Amino acid sequence: MADLDKMQVRFWGVRGSLACPGPNTVRYGGNTSCVEVRCGEDLFVFDAGTGLRGLGGALAAEKRPIHADIFCSHTHYDHICGVAFFAPCFNPANSLTFWAGHLPPGTTIREVLTGSLSEPYLPNLLDVISAHLEFEDFEGGDSFSPKPGITIRTAPLNHPGGATGYRLEWRDKSIAYITDTEHRPDMLDENVLGLIEGVDLMIYDATYTEAEYVVHAGWGHSTWQEAVRLAEKASVRKLALYHHDPTHSDAILDAIAAELDEAKANAVIAQEGMVISL
Ligand SMILES: [Zn+2]
Ligand SMILES: [Zn+2]
Repeated sequence: MADLDKMQVRFWGVRGSLACPGPNTVRYGGNTSCVEVRCGEDLFVFDAGTGLRGLGGALAAEKRPIHADIFCSHTHYDHICGVAFFAPCFNPANSLTFWAGHLPPGTTIREVLTGSLSEPYLPNLLDVISAHLEFEDFEGGDSFSPKPGITIRTAPLNHPGGATGYRLEWRDKSIAYITDTEHRPDMLDENVLGLIEGVDLMIYDATYTEAEYVVHAGWGHSTWQEAVRLAEKASVRKLALYHHDPTHSDAILDAIAAELDEAKANAVIAQEGMVISL
């Protein structure tokens, strides 16, 4: 049983862009973006990539109604493709609220997500999804309180088609969830700094190394070196590198971990199954 006085963060998918199971990704994991956050009894989920399937299995095993707020960084495939395989969708006792703040005016998260759950992408799953679904649109920069005692702050990120960064605060604990975003080489991103100031845990898009970034400028992702710079500037307590590139094998991520140790950054490489209690 989880400690209800702690904020508990569990990584169900840490990979970016495409799921990549196989012998080279056994330890860090191959599922795409999905992070579960428990604040007491309240359940929050950041992104609905393939990692969401594992979370769904764990929740179904609890055999009690699920009420979850699911915050979408954005709606690229790797961040939403788990919804159709999320067991709590298929139980009428459950209610799920999907939040998004990256869509252009006139487009809603309801139409984007329900479209993705329909032909020609998938069979028409809305005919069989029995959970109560709600959809909430907001604008990057908005703050809101999805549950009593919870504050969510948001900011727009630098990503093709837009993405949203989040900061979640509960009691004296805070985390920031920042993916997918591209830094600007000459300056730290003010939107990101505004969200991460003093957080207990910052989860950050570290798709590339600085050397790899050179040939991927404009693709909408950042580096572990930028994560370290941001974390230092904003007095972040702990950094979790996230959204690993599919080409980053366990060996490559181990090598990055060794460099992090050398840099004496208080940082970990997010790993499927990793739990951080705050
Ligand atoms: Zn992504
Ligand atoms: Zn993306």
